[in-house]
Amino acid sequence: MQVNLLDKDARGLADFFQEIGEKPFRARQVLRWLHQNREADFERMTDLSKSLRARLAQTATVAFPELVASSEAADGTRKWLLSVGGGNAIETVFIPEASRGTLCVSSQVGCALECAFCATGRQGFNRNLSTAEIIGQLWWAMKTLSGEPAAARLDGDAPERPVSNVVMMGMGEPLANFDNVVRAMRIMLDDHAYGLSRRRVTLSTSGIVPAIDRLREECPVALAVSLHASNDALRDRLVPINRKYPLSALLAACRRYVESAPDEPAPSGEKWQRAGAPRDFVTFEYVMLDQVNDSLGHARELVALTRDVPCKFNLIPFNPFPDSGFSRSPADRVRAFQEVLMQAGLIATVRKTRGDDIDGACGQLAGKVLDRTRRGARRAQEARA
Ligand code: SAH
Ligand code: SF4
Repeated sequence: MQVNLLDKDARGLADFFQEIGEKPFRARQVLRWLHQNREADFERMTDLSKSLRARLAQTATVAFPELVASSEAADGTRKWLLSVGGGNAIETVFIPEASRGTLCVSSQVGCALECAFCATGRQGFNRNLSTAEIIGQLWWAMKTLSGEPAAARLDGDAPERPVSNVVMMGMGEPLANFDNVVRAMRIMLDDHAYGLSRRRVTLSTSGIVPAIDRLREECPVALAVSLHASNDALRDRLVPINRKYPLSALLAACRRYVESAPDEPAPSGEKWQRAGAPRDFVTFEYVMLDQVNDSLGHARELVALTRDVPCKFNLIPFNPFPDSGFSRSPADRVRAFQEVLMQAGLIATVRKTRGDDIDGACGQLAGKVLDRTRRGARRAQEARA
């Protein structure tokens, strides 16, 4: 079987070349061809010998997910639908802003975690994405957007390229697909590929505690945690993984993440190894659900709960989808909630909803998942009851 070179980070490529009797530095050359030049044809990789090119054509392939559709919202947000075979498709969203361009990347086809307010969770789980399918989303975005004006360099180190930031906040729970996600993020960070700094790659998780610790050890990027509730009883209902990893365990893991030794150059030159937390705070995401988790009492409880964790809050207006059973908190309640957090000295921002006219906003990514469990229909019925 042919090896898909997009499934490999620098180390994987070096091993591959060693196995076929080539020098490991070929890995760097090929990474640059694949990810910087977006070249998929071995014949055009002109600094490889003719015989190596022929060998690669026989043993390896460069297979990306296939672009099925794209749409653009009134505010410039773009959404791409990519086919990943077997009738499944995933969504990737690009959000342009004055000082940065953020790509929201999916990690799974569907999601098994069934958070009550999430369209992806409603669809059920189909499968993990491969590394190629994850990094393929960035590849498509760069390919489509290159040639367009890059984000302005307003904040010093913003690179001159269309995608300056990646958030693992699309479909799926990234820490439930740990190995493939980490390998893809290593390609994002690699100077020979996309060269993003660890502060500009954010992983959002619903709170799989042991995997947060593993991430801290193996690939510390900026961390966002989907909190959404100020006590266990409420969170058990909204984010069911809380029954396995309750708030006390989750907040302790967040503290460990932030406190891990600050940046320390790795002896081997592999910058993701032994590096510390890239940020000195965790971002807590909190979706504002009308009459469910949005009272001033909840806000005060949240302040007490997170007292020992260096953090920032991002309040997300709920994005409705058919039969969700929830509605968005009114703007004045969101403001009052934000005020309580800020009075306590916390930084709390309200996320602007972007791309909602193309269903590209948080929690609306649905792609196309074959729901083997008919969970969608069942849950919609429960919500109506
Ligand atoms: N599975 C990961 C990442 C993907 S979801 C996680 O849960 O963190 C990205 C963010 O969108 C999460 O904070 C999630 O809770 C939030 N979200 C899900 N459904 C939403 C909805 N309908 N409206 C607003 N935010 C939603
Ligand atoms: Fe999965 Fe995240 Fe949606 Fe929860 S919010 S169902 S973890 S994608």
